[in-house]
Formats: sequence, C-alpha cells, structure tokens
Amino acid sequence: MFHIADDDDIKSGKLTDIYFERTNKILKAIEKNPLVKAEIFLKSFLCGYSWGVLAGIEETIKLLSGVDKISIRCMPEGTVFRDFQPVMVIEGKYLDFGVYETAILGFLCQASGIATKAARCKLAAQDKLVYSFGGRRVHPAITPMVERSAFIGGADGVSTTIGAKLIGQEPVGTIPHSLILIIGDTVEATKAFNQVIEPEVKRISLIDTFNDEKFEAIRVAECFGEDLYGIRLDTPSSRRGDFRKILEEVRWELDIRGFDKVRLVASGGLDEEDILNLRDIVDVFGVGTSISDARVLDFSLDIVEIEGKKISKRGKMSGAKKVIRCSKCFNDRIVLEDRKASDYKCNRCGSTYKDVFIDAVNKGKILYDFPHAFDIRNRVLGQFKFLEL
Ligand SMILES: [Zn+2]
Repeated sequence: MFHIADDDDIKSGKLTDIYFERTNKILKAIEKNPLVKAEIFLKSFLCGYSWGVLAGIEETIKLLSGVDKISIRCMPEGTVFRDFQPVMVIEGKYLDFGVYETAILGFLCQASGIATKAARCKLAAQDKLVYSFGGRRVHPAITPMVERSAFIGGADGVSTTIGAKLIGQEPVGTIPHSLILIIGDTVEATKAFNQVIEPEVKRISLIDTFNDEKFEAIRVAECFGEDLYGIRLDTPSSRRGDFRKILEEVRWELDIRGFDKVRLVASGGLDEEDILNLRDIVDVFGVGTSISDARVLDFSLDIVEIEGKKISKRGKMSGAKKVIRCSKCFNDRIVLEDRKASDYKCNRCGSTYKDVFIDAVNKGKILYDFPHAFDIRNRVLGQFKFLEL
C-alpha cells in the first residue's frame, strides 16, 4: 500500500533510529535501566525567528501515555517559546521511552514548524483572513496534522475535508480552474456553483482562467452583486511583480461600480512577507506551500538527570528545568523545575512570574485535558500582542 507508518508501527517503536534500538540492547545486556529525566529544547531557530509556537504535544502525550510510570511536564500546546527554553521534560526508566525519541521529535519538530509559520502569516495579516491551502504540497497521510497545526498556529480556515473535520471546522475553498475550464466560462461556472452548492458556502469566484482579471472581475460582480463574497486571484510566479498592480486595478474597477463589499482573495506562493506587503488591499490570503512545508524546528532531546543526579552533555545546562513567564510583560526565565515561580520577580518589570509548564502525565496517568484546536488557536492569538515578526 502507501509508504506510511501506521499508529501501531509508531506505538511499537518501529519508528526509531537504529542506534536507539542498539542502545536498548546494550543496556539490557549490561542490566542498566536508570530513572532519567530528559529535556526537549531548541538550540536555534535557524531561520532568523525569535520565537516559535509549540505544537505536536497531543500526539506526543498519546504516544507516551502507554508507557508505564512515565511522567511528562511540558508547555501546553500553542505556547510561544524561545530558543534554549525547555518545552518538555520526560521522566521515566530509559528503556521504557528511549526508543521513542525519533517519533517524539518528529511529532514536535514538524507540527511546531507549521504552527510557527502559520502564526507568522496570521500576525502579518492581522484582521485579514489566512486560509491554509497547502494540503496538496505534503504527503496525504499527514494532511490532518498539517492542517491542524496551521489552524492552531492562527490560520482562519483549512481547505481539506479531513483536516477541517479534525479541528471541528467547516472546510474553506473557492472554485478550481478545472471547473471553469470544463464549463467554459467564468460567469457560467460561478452560476453553476451558486445553483448547486449550499447557500451557506461563501461564493468566491476565480477570475484569471481565460481573460484579463479586471474584466472578469467586473463580469462576475455584475452578475452576482451582493451574493458574491469575493474573487480570487491566483498569481503565477511569472506575474509576481505585477500582482499588486493587478489587485489595485481590480479593486478600483469594482469600487467605482459600487462593489466595494466584494473581497479580494489572493493565492499563489504567498508567505508572511507578501502578506505584509498586500494586507492593505487583500482581504483573504490563501497560503499553501510556505505553511504546509514550513521548515521544521530542530528540537533535540537530552538527558539532564540520571537517578536524581544532575548531568548533561557539553554545551547544555544540567538538571531538569522549566520556564516561568511574567504575566505582564512576557519576559521569561529558566529555573530548575523544583523551584517556585512565586519566589522570583520579573527582572524587567518587577511583576510576578507564572509557571508555563504543566503536569501533563504523572506516573502514567494522563492529566492533560487535550484542549480543542479552537481553544489552542485562541491561546496562540492571545500571545500575539507580545510578538513581532
Ligand atoms: Zn515582566
């Protein structure tokens, strides 16, 4: 069948780098299985970012929840974090979870990379909408994860049916070129859409199939008037330089004819820079590749305590740590995990710190409440006021 691993493959530890499997074999042979604390953190964003949005927590907890007596303390999904900050501490017998390192990092690195990119796009768009259209750019087996991560990062909607189902939202979309090509005319295709598709679905026509965008936009707007939610302009990269000009022209022609409520939807190779440049004129951004294929965040997992003794490799601070955050100014501090947040005062504004970490799993018992994607997204948006691109 398809070239994918299923849930059982992942849960049974088949998704492991061989050196973990060999480590287990050796530890068993020499009868060593210490209680360890391992910390997951990001050394550098590599793409010049100063913050990231944590995602992949739900899947990580689900993977490890079957492990006997494991404990997990972490930032909740949707938390903004910075480099060098621990985002998760796993405590358990090494042989019980060491083999899952590859899968754990895979969950966190990719989902967080996508959520972070989506957050950057939404931060750039502000009150304008960002739709995730990148389902087609990734292996279909991971589409639900990609769409969920895009949504919790801040995307306002996702286009695939399975992705939307996972997050409990209605999928969003416009009209593909194929419908217009088969029907043979933009207005006729939009009419057919209008007749057949449920009235609650927004009418967004695609206007660049046959003719000049401006004339097609006017034709569609004159035919549908108030019923038309928007028109989509999909830019081939060859016309990139003219895109803003085309948008301005279309906006002008619509406005002078009284169609100022018809929204402009832009798609085609957009990222947060394009969104910043176009957000004054575009109402909805369809973002594909830059979100769905976002660069992964290179988390690593390192042992920081063995049988209660603080230890670590070179270049890494030993001891299990946590992040405390000023509730007023978002300033952070890294402290040993047994310290109380209330013992510290913010060294920037003097306010009190709060624990960012939560007890997600305690000796095998899941305490994490698996928040709804909608609530995680709200958590992300609530942190935007402290963030810059
Ligand atoms: Zn502060």
